[in-house]
Amino acid sequence: MKYVLVTGGVVSGLGKGVTASSIGVVLKSCGLRVTSIKIDPYLNTDAGTMSPFEHGEVFVLDDGGEVDLDLGNYERFLDVTLTRDNNITTGKIYQSVLEKERKGDYLGKTVQVVPHITDAIKNWIESVATIPVDGKDGAADVCVIELGGTVGDIESMPFIEALRQLSFSVGKENFCLIHVSLVPVLGVVGEQKTKPTQHSVRELRALGLTPDLLACRSSQPIQENTKVKLSQFCHVPVANILNIHDVPNIWHIPLLLRNQNAHEAIIKQLNFYSMATSPDLK
Ligand code: ADP
Repeated sequence: MKYVLVTGGVVSGLGKGVTASSIGVVLKSCGLRVTSIKIDPYLNTDAGTMSPFEHGEVFVLDDGGEVDLDLGNYERFLDVTLTRDNNITTGKIYQSVLEKERKGDYLGKTVQVVPHITDAIKNWIESVATIPVDGKDGAADVCVIELGGTVGDIESMPFIEALRQLSFSVGKENFCLIHVSLVPVLGVVGEQKTKPTQHSVRELRALGLTPDLLACRSSQPIQENTKVKLSQFCHVPVANILNIHDVPNIWHIPLLLRNQNAHEAIIKQLNFYSMATSPDLK
């Protein structure tokens, strides 16, 4: 199994969900089978008890699971049928660990965030990633994982640590990290500012994760010199810096990514060339 992790920096509501779904679409168009997992670092076990005024649509899955609206994006963009387990929340993870603790499964050990919560997160991801969601038999080729919230949040720390461990255990060629960040424009001169992205990449690297691709959200397309600056300071090749500017309709985003050869950068990072079965992958 190969993983594409989508994280977000600087501010929330950047469009991580739409970006992760669109990345799934461009990979699917290359002939790959794609599944997805959404991680929500809140303590509610699911979105069923959350106010739609605060949280947006509660998406109901075929199995009755009441989940985050991003799962709806995945189902609509990727034409898959997800299960309630494809939405991981802090509440679900703690509930499963506490149930095991009450049963005495930890054999008298002190139950801790590291390693018990982080192990539970890793095991959950690895087992859910293998559930077929596209009506075909066998596991998908790629699992796109979206980590909700913003890097650096206290809530998401156990997930970041679990994902760091997962990236190390599956190896570089099986793990691709895409960091979605904001490139604001300040002042009448309209200069695109890279500093917020630099800081959020630094935060991510301090936590042991290095982005392979950057997806920069901006109001207008980003300029070539902005890309060069981001590349230099964020340690990401220019070819791996994608730009997702504001579009009138989110269905444009997969094409925006495809036109920037996002699929090639991800396929190269995940070393799919060597195992290509589709002519599109060559
Ligand atoms: P996050 O997962 O980061 O919280 P979402 O994917 O839910 O963000 O997106 C937040 C909102 O921004 C949604 O209403 C989405 O339709 C909108 N959006 C995302 N990307 C773009 C874009 N490139 N252009 C215009 N609107 C966008």
